[in-house]
Amino acid sequence: MAVLEILPIGVVEELCLSYLRDRLGELFGEVVLSPPAEVPLKLNSRGQVLADHLLDSLSNYQCRADRVLAVINRDITVPGVDYIFGLAALGGRWAVISPVRLREAYYGRECDTGLFLERILKEALHELGHTLGMVHCTNEECNMKFSSTVEEIDRRSLLFCESCLGRVWSPRTEIAYATNGDGRRQIVRALLDRLRLWCR
Ligand SMILES: [Zn+2]
Ligand SMILES: [Zn+2]
Repeated sequence: MAVLEILPIGVVEELCLSYLRDRLGELFGEVVLSPPAEVPLKLNSRGQVLADHLLDSLSNYQCRADRVLAVINRDITVPGVDYIFGLAALGGRWAVISPVRLREAYYGRECDTGLFLERILKEALHELGHTLGMVHCTNEECNMKFSSTVEEIDRRSLLFCESCLGRVWSPRTEIAYATNGDGRRQIVRALLDRLRLWCR
């Protein structure tokens, strides 16, 4: 089984998907890019896709890897906030990211493909970090720092800090692993080892 599956939900631009496949492939080894899936979406009154509902629906999907990164070209959110860039279950198998608010054009600024791709990769790694049991970090440069704007995303690095890579096996994460039904420590260990090498 591959380590990571990238799963487009509906139509997602090819450049974004192939970039994620190539860059995450360098890091995680086997990455499969699946054909677009159609899943039932639940929208809020503002027409945004509810990402928590989407992650729930995806748990019925026959996945092809240990971790699945869904990519949806729709604005996403969860109840109680205006929008989110991505969502994942702590220690779980599933993560979802949305490229919508990562494009400069969304803010009426000139298109910047390089910046867009860097942001999407950062968001992908941040959400995958959550699936490996990492929680939000206070280090301004660490990729696990919570960001509510693209400017904040731009300030963080692609990399994870030592402390994040080290404190994955906290009691909180152990509980999350148990709840999310993903206790495969070996896989997580192997992925963390790769990340440590990469972040060095
Ligand atoms: Zn987060
Ligand atoms: Zn950190």
